[in-house]
Amino acid sequence: MEKLLVLGTGGGLTTKCYNTCFLLQNQDQYFLVDTGAGAQILNQIQKANVTLNQVHDIFISHKHVDHLLGIFPLLRVICRDIPKNKYQGNVNLYCAKEVHEIIERFILDTFHDVHIDVYYKNVIFHEIENEQEYSIIGYQVKMLDLYPNKFIEFGFQTKLNNGKVFTFLGDVPCSEKNVDKIRNTDWVCHEVFCREAENDLFHPHQINHSTVKDVSQAMQDLDVKNLVLWHTKDNCIEERKELYTKEAKEYFKGNIYVPDDLEVIEL
Ligand SMILES: [Zn+2]
Repeated sequence: MEKLLVLGTGGGLTTKCYNTCFLLQNQDQYFLVDTGAGAQILNQIQKANVTLNQVHDIFISHKHVDHLLGIFPLLRVICRDIPKNKYQGNVNLYCAKEVHEIIERFILDTFHDVHIDVYYKNVIFHEIENEQEYSIIGYQVKMLDLYPNKFIEFGFQTKLNNGKVFTFLGDVPCSEKNVDKIRNTDWVCHEVFCREAENDLFHPHQINHSTVKDVSQAMQDLDVKNLVLWHTKDNCIEERKELYTKEAKEYFKGNIYVPDDLEVIEL
């Protein structure tokens, strides 16, 4: 059973859905990818019927608040629960060096000493670099530099047990430098900010984001099989699935997924 448990689907400043993050499930193991912007992450994991004690591997794509801030309530609860034996074992955190430094600084300044002791003992950081590979929840996961402007951001690629290749591209358009890695792959999770008709309203390109048309055309040119679109505006949240899917279908011939929060996708 390999699944994508969608926890959030919104971009940076959404309030009608949680920020984009998900759990990758392999049997009874879970890999948390990004954490959204706050304590709502704890609720979303619970609503996905997963307990925190089942999550021992966490990936943070980059330092922006909509991906990073949820790590603090998560670690706060984990550091509280480890001494009580409610959370067993360590937590592995995969992120860039600069993200590690931000997390550490914040925790040292704001957590109780007793929790800081647990943090040092049980939170294991893995400072990721491009093309570095890790064994995570039974998958060989290869980190991908996403080459955004002005900051560091990583995605990753892995082969699932069913042989399909799964790729997470963070919240920036697919870089030319990664095109050869994406071509012909089975699953691509890609950011999209709004529809093409909303271009003049939201100016996605000015903030390094895309319209549905942009992404659908680019992924069709690369012969991607399954395309997950998220990290959107929340202005049309009720009709988002229908409107985005309709636009994507004009340009992309594979399977299109525009999930709502807490949707489960079989991989
Ligand atoms: Zn973002």
